[in-house]
Amino acid sequence: AAREKGGNTYQFHTQEVVRTTRRRLELEQALRGAVEREEFSLVYQPVVASKGDHPPGIEALLRWHRPGIGYCSPVDFIPVAESCGEIVRIGDWVLTEACRQAVAWEKAGLSFSRISVNISAVQLRDPGFAERVVALCKRAGWTPQRLELELTESVLILESDALRNCFQTLEAHGVLLAIDDFGTGFSNLRYLNRFPVQRLKIDRSFVSDMLTDRNTSEVTQAIIHLGHALGMRVVAEGAEQPEHCAWLHEQGCDEVQGYYYTRPLPPREMAQWLRSGRV
Ligand code: C2E
Ligand code: MG
Ligand code: MG
Ligand code: MG
Repeated sequence: AAREKGGNTYQFHTQEVVRTTRRRLELEQALRGAVEREEFSLVYQPVVASKGDHPPGIEALLRWHRPGIGYCSPVDFIPVAESCGEIVRIGDWVLTEACRQAVAWEKAGLSFSRISVNISAVQLRDPGFAERVVALCKRAGWTPQRLELELTESVLILESDALRNCFQTLEAHGVLLAIDDFGTGFSNLRYLNRFPVQRLKIDRSFVSDMLTDRNTSEVTQAIIHLGHALGMRVVAEGAEQPEHCAWLHEQGCDEVQGYYYTRPLPPREMAQWLRSGRV
């Protein structure tokens, strides 16, 4: 009986692998040329300063609407785009489009501090990445000093000369850097002060639990102190309730992002949100 059961488990496992492989290949194929077919768009979410009347930052988030199929989440397609290399071309499109949009909003007189774009490790490893970021940004008419790249912790572990040069070039042009989803990845804290990072974004899993779980609230406070000790501004993502914001403000968290302020919005609604001064 045990053998039979083992056999079934094995078979089930194989079917599962076949299914995910098929899905992966299907996504890979669909991703090829999706930029040219104009299937991508960006939505935007404000990052609101806790104190004073500093204008918010704006994070650009990628959206993929597949013709005849519908919405596909970045959580599902970004890893596939990374493994097949498409992320480089998609990432260039995201950078260009975000900068173009920022220029348009600036011209329209809207007030915001920076535009932030998510960057995957695969993009950073591409030779000439830093130079290309600066070139794309300038070509779009935007200022590198008001462009922020959001990187995850995993990127910073891959210490290499190439990566150091990349960060050096970005820093020389004043491009801002943030660590995204902080606290979820591998946190070898030594890397934190080796790179010119200005912002630490606490992962939203901390925010969702910090009011109900004592340990999480302690860790969240510690991250805020750590960021400040390293001269960084600390951002919390995923604040959904007024209580989240109140507690974070109280703890000295510098900026807050989340559904409490607004969900990510298409360009026109984002402009409206900025215009209405709903901060
Ligand atoms: P992220 O950069 O950490 O972005 C934050 C995610 O949390 C977004 O999901 C956003 O919609 C969501 N979010 C914001 N506020 C709240 C909240 O209050 N509650 C909850 N439950 N969620 C909130 P989204 O847009 O689905 O993006 C998921 C991830 O996909 C991003 O996480 C980022 O890692 C990746 N991603 C998105 N756009 C790009 C891109 O252009 N390039 C790359 N490489 N990755 C991207
Ligand atoms: Mg992000
Ligand atoms: Mg994040
Ligand atoms: Mg996150």
